[in-house]
Parts: sequence; structure tokens; C-alpha cells
Amino acid sequence: MEIDCLFCRIVAGQIPATVVRETDTTLAFRDINPQAAVHVLVIPKEHYADVATLTQADPALAGDVLGTAAVVAETEGLLADGFRLIFNTGQFGGQEVFHAHAHVLGGEPLGPMRAR
Ligand code: 5GP
Ligand code: ZN
Repeated sequence: MEIDCLFCRIVAGQIPATVVRETDTTLAFRDINPQAAVHVLVIPKEHYADVATLTQADPALAGDVLGTAAVVAETEGLLADGFRLIFNTGQFGGQEVFHAHAHVLGGEPLGPMRAR
């Protein structure tokens, strides 16, 4: 655990979150500032700064994150109409929390992939 990491503190139970799914290696919880009708974050419990670092260090754990994201998409009722899975990464990617996380977005049409 990284002492100053917000998502590590959520994993440790030090900051409350609305958890929708937990596995041995991953945690899924609702985004505090949802950008769509459904907006869930999926993280590895172990700290990695971003998805690239995570995948290079532990590809199986990265697979666990994808697997939990897919189950969340199903349990949130997103499979029929579709959804979007986003890993913002680094400065240009707009990443704000440097603990790897997937955004699962859906429940309404999400529009173009990029605002221009
Ligand atoms: P990023 O911009 O790093 O890809 O996404 C970080 C996300 O974390 C944002 O969508 C933001 O709303 C969310 N977030 C920030 N602080 C908290 C928090 O304390 N709890 C929860 N559940 N989400 C948070
Ligand atoms: Zn962390």
C-alpha cells in the first residue's frame, strides 16, 4: 500500500466507497463524480501507478481487472446496449489518480470518443 494513494486507502477501508464488486485481487466501486448513468472504477488491490506499469509487471493481474470490469458491465446491465472501458494514462491521458484503474461507463449513449 502507498500511504498517500487515494485508491490504496479505499482498498484499506480508510476512505469509504460504494463497492459493487470485490475479488481477491480487484475492487470495483462507483465513481464519486459520475460522468454517465453508470460509472464504476475497477482497480487492482495492489498498487501500480497506471495500466502500462501494471500490465508490464503483472499481466495476470491486469487480466483480473479486465475480468472484473466485464462482470461489472454485466451486473450493471450494460451488455445489451454496450459500454465504454477507459484507462486514462499519464499527463496527456488526463490521469488524475495514479493508481491504475479502469472506468466502466454506460447506461446511456456516450457520444463520440473524444470531445473536440
Ligand atoms: P482519472 O482521471 O485518474 O482517470 O480518474 C480518477 C477518477 O477518480 C475520477 O473519475 C474521479 O471522479 C474519481 N475519484 C476521485 N476521488 C474519488 C474518491 O474519493 N472516491 C471515488 N469513488 N472516486 C473518486
Ligand atoms: Zn495505490
